[in-house]
Order: sequence, then C-alpha cells, then structure tokens
Amino acid sequence: MSDPSRGRAERVELRSKLNSEFGSERAAAYAQQSGFSARPLESGAHAVESSFASAEPLGKRRVHASAASHATNPRSDGNARTSEFYPAHVLHPRVIHGQLHESVKKPLRVMKFGGTSVGDASCIQRVIEIVRAAVHECDLVVVVSAMSGVTNKLVEAANQADAGNHESVAAIFEELRERHETAANVLISSHEKRQMIVDTIQARVQEGARLCEDAILRRDVSAQVRDAISGLGERLSAPLVAAALAERGVPCEAIEATELVVTDSRHGAAEPFMDLTRECCEARLRPLLLRGIVAVVTGFIGATVEGVPTTLGRNSSDFSGTIMGAALDADEVILWTDVDGILTADPRLVPGASSILEMSYREASDLADLGAKVLHPKTMHALMLQGIPLAIRNTFAPERPGSKITSDGSSRGAGVRALTGSNDAALITVRAAKVSDTPNILRRALATIAAVPVELRLAPQYSAAQDEISLVVPSALAATTLHALRKEFTSDLACGMIRALALESDVALVTVIGDKLFGAGGLVGRILHALSCESISVLARSQGSSRSSFTFVVAQRDMKAALVAAHRELQLTASTVSGLSL
Ligand code: ADP
Ligand code: ASP
Ligand code: MG
Repeated sequence: MSDPSRGRAERVELRSKLNSEFGSERAAAYAQQSGFSARPLESGAHAVESSFASAEPLGKRRVHASAASHATNPRSDGNARTSEFYPAHVLHPRVIHGQLHESVKKPLRVMKFGGTSVGDASCIQRVIEIVRAAVHECDLVVVVSAMSGVTNKLVEAANQADAGNHESVAAIFEELRERHETAANVLISSHEKRQMIVDTIQARVQEGARLCEDAILRRDVSAQVRDAISGLGERLSAPLVAAALAERGVPCEAIEATELVVTDSRHGAAEPFMDLTRECCEARLRPLLLRGIVAVVTGFIGATVEGVPTTLGRNSSDFSGTIMGAALDADEVILWTDVDGILTADPRLVPGASSILEMSYREASDLADLGAKVLHPKTMHALMLQGIPLAIRNTFAPERPGSKITSDGSSRGAGVRALTGSNDAALITVRAAKVSDTPNILRRALATIAAVPVELRLAPQYSAAQDEISLVVPSALAATTLHALRKEFTSDLACGMIRALALESDVALVTVIGDKLFGAGGLVGRILHALSCESISVLARSQGSSRSSFTFVVAQRDMKAALVAAHRELQLTASTVSGLSL
C-alpha cells in the first residue's frame, strides 16, 4: 500500500527542485507536462460515492497544460469564463522582488473561511491576520463562504421573485449592497481601490436584481436561475476578502470557482467531476502558487462542462475547500470556523461540549452525515482518497489547536468520540400480525421506499418482539412515503396481515459516534438508563452501518435533553475520549 504522506512529501520536494532549477513559468510548464499534478492514490481506505471517484462527463471541455496561463478557460461554446481579475497594481501592491519564488519550497495548504469568519470587516481583519501569518510558512489557496446570512437572503430574494414581489427583491439587494460596502469602507483605505471594490459589489448586486426581475417577468425561477442567484454571496465576499488582503500586502487574486470546479448539472446539489476539476485547478491555480500569489476562491459554486453556474448544496463551502485540496494534492486543508474545531457535541445544544483533538475520517464523516453542522457531509469525500489531513480551527481563537482529522484519527484507546443530534426526521412503524411475516413485509417496504425514492435515515429496525419494523425517513418526505406504503399494503391492512401502519412526524436522532465502539461494555444500557432518568422515551434505536455509530430515536422536543443527558453520562466534558464501548 502506498503511503500518501510520502507521496505528497516527494511532490513538495519535486516542487522545490523544479523551482530551483527552472524559472517559475518553466517550472509550471514542466510540472504540468510531467504529471506532477497528483492523481488519487489507489490505496484509499474508504469507499466514496461513484460520481466522485470515477464519473466524467463526455469530454466537451478539456483544459490542457498549455491553457495554463491566465484568467480564462476554454469552453466548448467558445465563450471564455473570466474571473475577477484585478490589475496587478491593485492586488499586488507591496510585492517585494525575489519573494515570488521563495514560496514554492513550502507545503501547500488550502484554507476555507466560513460565513461567520467573513461576517463583517472586523472578522475579515482576523482572516487577513491568519493568512498573513500563513503565507510565510506555506503556499496558500483561500476559499471563502458568503458573509454569514447572505446566502439565506439570496434564497429569500429568489423566493420573493417567485412570488412576484419587486419591492422585496429590491430591498434585499439594497441591504446586501450596503452590508458589503460598509465592510469595504472599513477595510480599504485608498479611495481608488475602494472604488474598484465598490464597483464590483454594485455590479454583482445589479446582476442579482436583474436575474430576479427577469424571473418575475418570466414567472419562473428555474433551478438554474436559483443557483445563479444564491451563488452571488461568494462572488461578493471573495473580491472583498482579496481586496482586503491586497491592502495588507498579500499578493492575491479573486477567482470564481465556476472556472475551477466542473460539476454535473444537478442544480442545488451538484457533484464535481474531479478529473476535469483537477485539470482546471492545475491550469489556473498552479501558476499562481508558483508565483507566490494567494488565490481567493469562491466556495459553494461551480459550473457545468458547458459553463452553466451550479451550487454544491447549502453549507457546502467546506466541500469546496476539500475539492480544492484534493485537486491540488495539498498537504493540508484547514476549515476556519467559529468554534474550537469539532466538539463532543454541538455547543449550542450541550454547553459543556469540549474540543476533540484528533478524529478519523470515518468518525468525522459519520458526525457530518448524522447532522453535525460543523462539517458538510461531503467534506471528507475528496480527502479520503488521497489521505490529505483536514484541520478544523477557530478564526476567533487561532492560537487554539482545534481538531485534526486523518485516516487513523487518534491512536489513543478509541471509544465514544462525540454525540450528534438531527431533528428533521419522521418515524414510520409497520406492525405485522405474525412475526414470521415481518421479513417479507420489510422487503416490500424497502422496495416501495426505494421507488418513491426516499433514502432511509437509519438502518431499518425490528422491535424486541420482532413484530414491528421501524423506518426513519426525512421529515419532508414522510407523507409521500406513508402514502406509498399505504398503497403497497392496502390489501394486507384490509385482511389484518398488517395490524398497523403509523407515522410519528416529529422525531430526532441522537447518535453516539466513535471508531471501535463495538466491544464489550454496556454503553447502550447506560444511555437508555440516563435517558429514562430524564423521562425521555426511546422510540427506536439502531447501529450504524459502519459500526462506528449508534442512534437513538427520540421525540424532537426531547433531543436537547437527550444530548445533555447522554453527554453527561459518557463524561465527554472532562475528556475528549470516553474509552467506553458498546
Ligand atoms: P461555517 O460558517 O464556518 O462553515 P457553520 O455554522 O456551518 O460554520 O458550522 C459551525 C457550527 O457548527 C458551530 O457554530 C456549531 O454551532 C455547529 N456544530 C454542530 N455540531 C458541532 C460539533 N460537534 N462541533 C462543533 N460545532 C458544531
Ligand atoms: N454560503 C453557502 C451557504 O450558506 C455555503 C457555505 O457557507 O458553506 O449555504
Ligand atoms: Mg459550514
């Protein structure tokens, strides 16, 4: 099995050798010709979704090394997609000659800053300090979210356009313009440079307002237009952050990820085509890295092969960060957020939650899949194949270590690592008259659910008496699923073979996460006891398919109390690893 970290170390060494032997332009060309750009290592320890691993669209657009130079990418339609490309004097104000080649000896890091980290001018100042400190130690690509709350406003604008409300649309864009301009006024001191960023802000805001007005006229907000509108937040924040970095002497360039992340056309939840994305990143970002220029890339967005803008799903800038990391074969990806890394539970729900220093990819993936907002569920997909470590750190306390996620996680005795709660679920129970009928009922129920289609939130469970099956589905699809099951089981219900088919709408999942949870020990019993002491009933429970999680289904109103009680029982506050097993 090849060692991913060694592979990367070799590539870093090659990068520095290239730099010392060639000028930066030639180094870039050589690097690209020589296959210096990394490909996923075959030895990935975990399976990933197929579209990520292998699917490629029929190659309408190929980006070759020769296209590596500046702000455009060739497209099949012949139209170039340009990025926010500032004149050198704006974004490279204090570049010291000779500084350019120095950076290629350094490790490569991708730093993604979330919405609260770029929420206003004072937050952006902190980002700048972090980046300024980092550029001394590493080559850097920065990925930014929209300012906190901005994407919600843009989604609201699209909804108002759908409802034909001109005034509401105009008010939202005016508010967004004002918010970004206020930040620009604080961050950029020179009149000329401030005017440039203000012009950019105004152009973006006008673009959004126009998209909404056109949609009102057409009486239709298509998924494609929704993506174009909701992606504007990152297209506002990236140039703002880049301008602020330039103001503080960091050579940088704002780049729209529509130039870099090539996706399928599932608007609102697009998947990247990694081979094409890798080619675009190599062509567009590598030359900047070799010149010591920090790319400030928009999170959340991408574009299809034809260049149609897409979004990767709400909260997906984490994923954008790791896509960049994988595409460039970075040495590390760091997600900067508003908490001290991954905690033993959501600190908004469990006040005593503590930071977890190390975690495995699998633990972090489980945590994200099962509802922890700190990581987008797809965040780990890109990194796991290449063994690239992920760190989660606090923009507002950069001196704290945060969390490190690697393939192995902590070498210390594993056990319960964290708890997570997720409350947008519904529980459907099917009760058979005879226990012997339940396997067949389950088989038919699963086929019906797959045809809807609905993805179960938990593995189906039999009751202790084996006559009842519990199925947990997303709230939004509960009624549709129940309807489909009623149809499937109409005659079974009529003849009494099925005694009951019931829906409990407002349930929550409380999940215990940790590698090697399953050994001797009575963790389930202890949690059940702790919950019953708080008079919380467990409606169903289930072992996760990866065997690194165990979920209790409770009423939604009990979720917070259940998390607090389980957290206390497992003593997660005092230590980052309880050492308990199931
Ligand atoms: P960003 O905008 O930086 O991406 P998010 O708001 O998406 O930040 O995610 C960070 C938030 O995730 C935290 O403020 C916290 O409330 C929430 N969260 C949920 N579960 C956890 C957890 N286990 N550890 C840390 N934060 C968590
Ligand atoms: N701005 C996007 C959202 O709010 C993506 C992100 O911030 O992660 O969903
Ligand atoms: Mg987030």
